Amino acid sequence: MTEEIIRTAEKSLDLVLPFYEGQGVPLSYRPKIVYINEVHPLFPEGVARAKAEVDFLQFADKILSVSMLQESWRKFYSLEFSEKALEELFTATLNYAGNGNVQIHPLEKRIAEDDSGIFLFKPYNEFSQDTKARDRILAHEVWHLIEQERGVINVAPMINEGTATYAERRFVGKKGKKSIEDYEDYFSMIYNGSAKLVQDYVDSEENPLKAVLETSIRLKIEDELLRRIKPKLIATLEKTLESQENMFAIGESMKQLPVFARIQGNVTAENLLRAYEEIGAQLFVEEAKRQDLTKFVEFMKKSGL
Ligand SMILES: [Zn+2]
Repeated sequence: MTEEIIRTAEKSLDLVLPFYEGQGVPLSYRPKIVYINEVHPLFPEGVARAKAEVDFLQFADKILSVSMLQESWRKFYSLEFSEKALEELFTATLNYAGNGNVQIHPLEKRIAEDDSGIFLFKPYNEFSQDTKARDRILAHEVWHLIEQERGVINVAPMINEGTATYAERRFVGKKGKKSIEDYEDYFSMIYNGSAKLVQDYVDSEENPLKAVLETSIRLKIEDELLRRIKPKLIATLEKTLESQENMFAIGESMKQLPVFARIQGNVTAENLLRAYEEIGAQLFVEEAKRQDLTKFVEFMKKSGL
């Protein structure tokens, strides 16, 4: 079965690679394809993934952008933090998590150790009768690899899924009609909504796909994307927090970090601050100490921490 799946994916590559070459944006090598007969537990609907090294720090940094964090702390806990303190908190948390303090999922480990270019997952089989959809999937993944090879994948990491979706749409000759504001969930905004934004910026260029690879254009698109999704993300976050189930999910994810797992059932302002201090967010702790943390402590308790 695996061989058959790889064979059909190779057929898609036979169409996709010449397409990009014809557009003046070739991938210089033929990527190796691997099929993993599993549903990725973290991305259950994920059909495929390109081995494109996106700097997670940069990516997450853009999503959360400090101004959004600032607004969230103000809105949910009535706390004021400087941008510097939030930047430090954010980087410190990611570094702490990355330093072996959080377990990496076995499937992620396997992908990390494999130098193939494209990974297909079990849901890819749902398209076994749909040649066009399969070609599209490969067109999307190959675009990630093209951006990686050109060294622009981390230039504006927020738009990577939008640019790959745009490239995929060009491959099938389709245009996007719905804008960011027409979507409700985060993933649709970040894939389809941002693909439409990319289209708005480059479609009238002489060579649209080449334009997508230009740093200055990418940064402009990313700026606009962030500006437009920010209010929606904060509204979504507010709604998310209304459900106790979601609160528990937040608690669960915090418990992944040993410093928080240790204070489970014993959440006080003092213990929370000690945990943040241990992570390395000194400035954040200093600013927090001067404020009333009641709301924040209540929130954390509600999350089941
Ligand atoms: Zn993608």
